[in-house]
Amino acid sequence: MPPKQLTPMLRQYLEIKSEHPDAILMYRMGDFYEMFFEDAQQAAPILEVQLTARNKGGDNEAPMCGVPHHAVEGYIGKLLAAGLRVAVCDQVEDPAEAKGLVQRAVTRVVTPGTVSEPELLDGKEENLLAGVVWDGEDAGGHGAGAFLDVSTGNFFVRRWSDPGDGVDDLEGLRPKEVLFEETGLPAEIAAWIERRVPCWSALEGDRLYDRGRAAELLERHFGTTTLRGFGLDPKEPAVRAAAAALAYARETQHSELPHVRSLALREARDRMVLDPTTLANLEVFRSLREGGRAGTLLAVLDRTVTAPGGRTLRDWLRRPLRLPAAVARRHGAVEELVEEAPRRQRLRDLLAGTGDPERLVSRAVLGSLTPREAAALRDTLDRVPEVVAELAECRAALLADLAATDPLSALRDELHRVLAAEPSASVDDGGVIAEGLDADLDHARSLARDSKQHILSLEARERQATGIASLKVRYNKVFGYYAEVTKANTHLVPDHYIRKQTLVNAERYVTPEIKQLEEQILAAEERQLALERRHFEALRATVAAAAAGLSALAAALGTLDVLCAFAEQAVRGRYVRPRVEEPGAPLVIRGGRHPVVEATRREPFVPNDTDLDDEAAQIVVLTGPNMGGKSTYLRQVALIVLMAQAGSFVPADAVSLGAVDRIFTRVGASDDLARGESTFMVEMIETANILHHAGPESLVVLDEVGRGTATFDGLSLAWAIVEHLHEHRRPRTLFATHYHELTELATLLPRVVNRTLAVKEWKDDIVFLRRVVPGSSDKSYGIQVARLAGLPRGVVERAAEVLANLEAAEYDVSGRPRLARGKAAPRSAENQMLLFTGPEQRVVERLRDADVDRLSPLDALNLLHELRGELGPA
Ligand code: ADP
Ligand code: MG
Repeated sequence: MPPKQLTPMLRQYLEIKSEHPDAILMYRMGDFYEMFFEDAQQAAPILEVQLTARNKGGDNEAPMCGVPHHAVEGYIGKLLAAGLRVAVCDQVEDPAEAKGLVQRAVTRVVTPGTVSEPELLDGKEENLLAGVVWDGEDAGGHGAGAFLDVSTGNFFVRRWSDPGDGVDDLEGLRPKEVLFEETGLPAEIAAWIERRVPCWSALEGDRLYDRGRAAELLERHFGTTTLRGFGLDPKEPAVRAAAAALAYARETQHSELPHVRSLALREARDRMVLDPTTLANLEVFRSLREGGRAGTLLAVLDRTVTAPGGRTLRDWLRRPLRLPAAVARRHGAVEELVEEAPRRQRLRDLLAGTGDPERLVSRAVLGSLTPREAAALRDTLDRVPEVVAELAECRAALLADLAATDPLSALRDELHRVLAAEPSASVDDGGVIAEGLDADLDHARSLARDSKQHILSLEARERQATGIASLKVRYNKVFGYYAEVTKANTHLVPDHYIRKQTLVNAERYVTPEIKQLEEQILAAEERQLALERRHFEALRATVAAAAAGLSALAAALGTLDVLCAFAEQAVRGRYVRPRVEEPGAPLVIRGGRHPVVEATRREPFVPNDTDLDDEAAQIVVLTGPNMGGKSTYLRQVALIVLMAQAGSFVPADAVSLGAVDRIFTRVGASDDLARGESTFMVEMIETANILHHAGPESLVVLDEVGRGTATFDGLSLAWAIVEHLHEHRRPRTLFATHYHELTELATLLPRVVNRTLAVKEWKDDIVFLRRVVPGSSDKSYGIQVARLAGLPRGVVERAAEVLANLEAAEYDVSGRPRLARGKAAPRSAENQMLLFTGPEQRVVERLRDADVDRLSPLDALNLLHELRGELGPA
């Protein structure tokens, strides 16, 4: 708590802080930004700086911590990453001129969802601010989310008809900051936000727009008279969500955000839906185990060379296409780029030299584009004509369309005309504007430069006149230009030298001539900087005005980058072009491979086939030993479908499929420990979602569902789930299970088929062949796998005994003991033989031959000893 007795400085601090209660206030003092009170206590551990106190021990002690001003961006980054908002408070008058306390004011507010500083952004990821609104009154309630990326101007809304959609969207899009309307918000969404988004606030007061005002705000911003052009009804929640997000971003940025030029309604009809659980299970963006990028589909496919390309790739993987014609357009382009290797290489080289035009526009609009960024934009635009020339020679329709993108030659020419070849980092340093643009500027500049020449010649002249060879004419901020003479020579200094400063070894002087020159130089420099600033401001405005064209260009370059990346990976990974047909066509994969496992494992990957259709093989029940490759096979099928519809080539010999509308994957609870939160309940909630939403055009992948509970419950549930998928929703389904009882479904249901992963038994061991073959396996080989894992031999043997006892007590569906069935029709004569070879075989034979009735106790003991010896060391 602030103490009662306040110094004027702390009073000023608290006054400013009261206007930014929900931000950490960084208060400039000298070379530091200081934080006080609760802010200091909260920030110090995050910033890893010492928490100290001002007026320590006094009754007005204030906790405090600080960071050096020149490194402030890095510290702001840390606070943002921790989900905090930061208000930066600067000195707004020259401390030298201030009477009393220096005036200070907040010059910018940086929040996790509205940052635009490139150094605080990950170029390849969107940085989204979300507004979330729920309307209870309308038709059973529905809501919407608005998503704004201030750094690129990208702005879109999503409608949600149930809370689950909202959670899915938020989870998939991962906004960095969320504003929501508290009233009526479903608990599910509120809980998700509080759990997953470190920075959120409930809308209140001015930020809460009622229907009329929300529509008005957006209409005024976009300069339209109605929102219907965006496909939006002015009364719907999406409009209020969008207004809230936009108003908040404008407020923090102190800008009207003119680069936010349209509002897209993103509806899923033309896109495949991948819910967050599916994205997680398929490890598209994050690995299950480490949560990082290594071992993901993205890591394998991301051969993009630009930031817009990286963002586009994520978008394509998150929302693959559904219309076969749209998919074919991408495939056609990738195919041509695969075939034309030299052209692909040239394009990739050109792209690698382009910057991030989309983000540069927003910097220009926000008035923070630096001269170097402008130069980067110029370099990007310089490459565009070459890119266009390459594309103009292409046959594929999509590439030809990209060739028609406006290369913005006028803007490029203007950048060349105005900007120096290698501008300095800041306008305040000068040297930003090209020679020859403005005669006035050139004049001022040459004056400044010539005056420096004058200083040098003055130095030479004074040396001559005084005979002091070491005399130096120099500059510093406090005294301006001066002549410096070492102590040993001061007796030679003429009378008209005026002493200004005494150092240990030298004296500093000025002369009227030096003063006069100094004035000339400073005036020329000032004029030069003022002119440079004016020209650069105009240039910024020109860039900002070209926003629409730059966004279109950025989008085209991003698309081209991804197409080239797909082609590059297709060549490296030996991928083929898949055929995506109308929904309902069979899914046929020949020689399919798992793109990530194949790329990361050292052993050769065994390819497998897949056939799914609506008549004979709608559901595949996949059994096989632990570690046999079931989970890998399931995911590889889903990934091939996802990649195909995203526009990529696929790891297989041949693939054709009917377009899929959604992919669902669920993994049995005990197989899903990596997610930490998985309980059987979650598994069932997720399964319920599938049973409600999967349709005939969907692909469902269930891996060991039902495993999270007792055997009989789990089996019964799994059985009922398969029946339901078979009878009601009819999605194409792959179901991996260790309940081999489920394989009996194939005899009862016409569209269920059994597949198993082949193994070879050898002695007591098994060899995984990784081949998917028709049929079923009624053994889990858990004991053999345990042996491979190095379980103590005694435990393995005892387990085998227990298993034998259990199996002896089990009955099959017709009521016969399983063992009896095994005897009547041995599963495999070969297996039986294989299981009884080696030392065990000899032991069995010798035991059988032994005449136990006649053995003496000593002989019996000896025999036992020998038999034990046969078996080798324990
Ligand atoms: P399951 O789900 O049947 O227990 P997994 O799919 O987890 O088995 O696979 C077990 C191991 O086998 C994994 O480490 C995987 O890398 C490897 N594997 C799976 N399928 C193949 C394959 N087709 N070729 C080569 N290795 C494979
Ligand atoms: Mg598995």
